[in-house]
Amino acid sequence: MDRRNLETVGVRRTGWAALDRDPQQDTVEFICPHCGARDKKNARRERALYHFTDGFLQDLQGEVTQCHACKQYLRVVPIVMLHDQDETRRFEAVFSDEELVTSH
Ligand SMILES: [Zn+2]
Repeated sequence: MDRRNLETVGVRRTGWAALDRDPQQDTVEFICPHCGARDKKNARRERALYHFTDGFLQDLQGEVTQCHACKQYLRVVPIVMLHDQDETRRFEAVFSDEELVTSH
């Protein structure tokens, strides 16, 4: 049995990309690969651990978490840091099959 955690892309929005929510929150948003629920977790890793890859600041190690809906574990990787609407649009173009930042 393959015991590795399923992986899903995460988004960590900061600054201008996060105007629609409490600026005190620092969360990673993701969609559970097990049940499809939209979920989020507190961002744990230092921003210094994010590196520019393919035009985005990304954490390629990611973070393991547990889905609040189905209680299964998953790895959120890569985690892409988005700072403004321009980066958000570029993310949507590159990760077009992800619906993380198209909620409105
Ligand atoms: Zn789930």
